[in-house]
Amino acid sequence: MERVRIRRELMDYLLELARDFYPNEFAGFLRERDGVFEEVLIAPDPHFGRGSAFFNPWMLPHDESVKGTVHSHPGPNPRPSGADLSFFSKFGGVHLIIAYPFVEESVRAYGSDGRELPIEIVD
Ligand SMILES: [Zn+2]
Repeated sequence: MERVRIRRELMDYLLELARDFYPNEFAGFLRERDGVFEEVLIAPDPHFGRGSAFFNPWMLPHDESVKGTVHSHPGPNPRPSGADLSFFSKFGGVHLIIAYPFVEESVRAYGSDGRELPIEIVD
């Protein structure tokens, strides 16, 4: 099964961002190097709607190292919304959702088809 590998420093930073933005959602793009996600680019103008942050396709960065997205859910439900799923399938790659209370255990990863993927933290 495909694994989502994330550098520990990035995971800590994403949790911090989710807490800082709370009660709003934050959204960003994830950059990968050698199979490990190492960096986040915070989306400049995500649509922070009720229950879902999503992205305009035209604002996707032209950056080949961007292989996924991340956004937070201000509630405890880490499941992707309908809007999330339709965005995932258009974007491809992998997608993190960080649910309240924004700890490592409340982070989930999904493939572009919406199935959950295991997360591996890399030191
Ligand atoms: Zn969502």
